[in-house]
Amino acid sequence: LLSTGMVEAFLPLMWLSQFLRKSRTSAQRIMELLNEPAMPAVLDGLKAKDATVCFDEVTFRYERRDEDALSHVSFRVEAGSTTALVGPSGAGKSTVAKLLPRFWDPDDGAITLGGVDVREMTQEDLMNTVTFVFQDTYLFHDTLANNIRMARPEATDEMVVQAAKAAQIHDFIESLPEAYETHAGDRGARFSGGQRQRITIARAILRDAPIIVLDEATAFADPESEEEIIQAITHLTRDKTVLTIAHRLTTITHVDQILVFDKGEIVERGPHE
Ligand code: ADP
Repeated sequence: LLSTGMVEAFLPLMWLSQFLRKSRTSAQRIMELLNEPAMPAVLDGLKAKDATVCFDEVTFRYERRDEDALSHVSFRVEAGSTTALVGPSGAGKSTVAKLLPRFWDPDDGAITLGGVDVREMTQEDLMNTVTFVFQDTYLFHDTLANNIRMARPEATDEMVVQAAKAAQIHDFIESLPEAYETHAGDRGARFSGGQRQRITIARAILRDAPIIVLDEATAFADPESEEEIIQAITHLTRDKTVLTIAHRLTTITHVDQILVFDKGEIVERGPHE
């Protein structure tokens, strides 16, 4: 009896040591972030003239890598058209998507939106021009209404509901006891992957940016709501310039242009046929 009692008494100590280890790692990450040099702010930015996207001889290599992730990549996406990026894993498709919002800048070449180099646009204009729907969806510790509204703080309740309807998530939200006032919980842990995705698509619909960058894996993360997610994406991309990372050739029969990537280069381009 005594020995079991003693083990129990020591358990909190074990938790404490684990907690200390976790905190130390977190603190290190925070320091790393704080030590990151700030990106020079663009003050008098230029504004994109239309919704074309153009990559001109873009070459880019990640730090501590021996090979270019993109090498002399050039393409143009006309305003209002859809371009699909296909190719094997590691070919550079996501890198194209990540260079657009300047997660990194190319080592060589230029990326322009509506004729303006992304490096000459203010961060605000850039973010208002392009919306991203990536695989890692993120819900904040707040109500569902606020999670959608953060795309456009001045949006009315009616606009939030319209966006949720277009994203095929309104009926689900209404079925919850607290409806739009439901708390998403930490990172939206209470909802399924498909539900989280539709909430983030509602956010993107509300934002209404002219250019959409989409990782299509999104559409198939949750087989149960695949059909709804496809409909949500159809609403999101209507009349927009769309750059989509496709994972199945069957879903891109209708796009205007397909770019086939391999080892950081475009090896083939054209329509589906
Ligand atoms: P895809 O989207 O076609 O699967 P990626 O653009 O993710 O390809 O990757 C292209 C290349 O860049 C790969 O060799 C990959 O390992 C490398 N890469 C991708 N992201 C990073 C990163 N954050 N840091 C270092 N290398 C990366």
